[in-house]
Amino acid sequence: MSKPVYISEMFSSIQGEGMLAGRRQIFVRLMECNLDCTYCDTDFKKSDVFRLESRPGSGLFLTLPLPLSCHEISETFDGWLSQLPGAHHSVSITGGEPLLHADMLAEWLPEIRKKLPIHLETNGTRHDALRRVKQYVDYISMDMKLPSTAGCPEMLWDVHALFLREASGSNVSVKVVVGDHTTLDEIHRVCDIILSADAAVPLFLQPLSLSDDRVGITTAHLFRLQERASSRLADVRVIPQMHKMLGAL
Ligand code: SF4
Repeated sequence: MSKPVYISEMFSSIQGEGMLAGRRQIFVRLMECNLDCTYCDTDFKKSDVFRLESRPGSGLFLTLPLPLSCHEISETFDGWLSQLPGAHHSVSITGGEPLLHADMLAEWLPEIRKKLPIHLETNGTRHDALRRVKQYVDYISMDMKLPSTAGCPEMLWDVHALFLREASGSNVSVKVVVGDHTTLDEIHRVCDIILSADAAVPLFLQPLSLSDDRVGITTAHLFRLQERASSRLADVRVIPQMHKMLGAL
């Protein structure tokens, strides 16, 4: 019998970050996270209910009981894809940290992937779990958590390096959230990790979004960081969180 599916929400929106920015996706958010980033604005706590958008893109939600079966989630996908044919580019598996649920993902991603390509959004700390599911994933967006913006401990550098090594060879990109306190040394360390795994991996610098919707970095500092990263890497891009500008989910 297949494993029950625990998710916290499922909705349709425009991807606002990283390599698939601008693509319409079905977002499936999984519960729980192993980090505690200072800028986190996501409710990922464990629950026995989940939120399902009543119509894809409506922003209106039903609250329904968990768990779901793999068959039920597959039927919901089929319904949305027939309501909006061609509208969706891919499915974004996000969190929380989705790789905390590698067993569950290994069971239902192959089924979902028959319908749309799979985009995994991860905090880049679970290289062992990635090994178990990467064969079912088409795009990997990996965060590297900088002490200056996420407030995460220094030891994450080594964890991120292991993860990116495991991900290289897949279609992976790296995103870092940068703010006024981000240092050139942090950008150097990000570059070192990318260069030691695969120099062609794209790096996205994402300006920190503050709670009052302002951006938490001056343009001059953002340019300094971009110039330093671009002096070492081939593909560096700056993209703010687009979905927030649109007022989308
Ligand atoms: S990794 Fe993501 S979900 Fe987890 S605490 Fe950080 S921002 Fe929030």
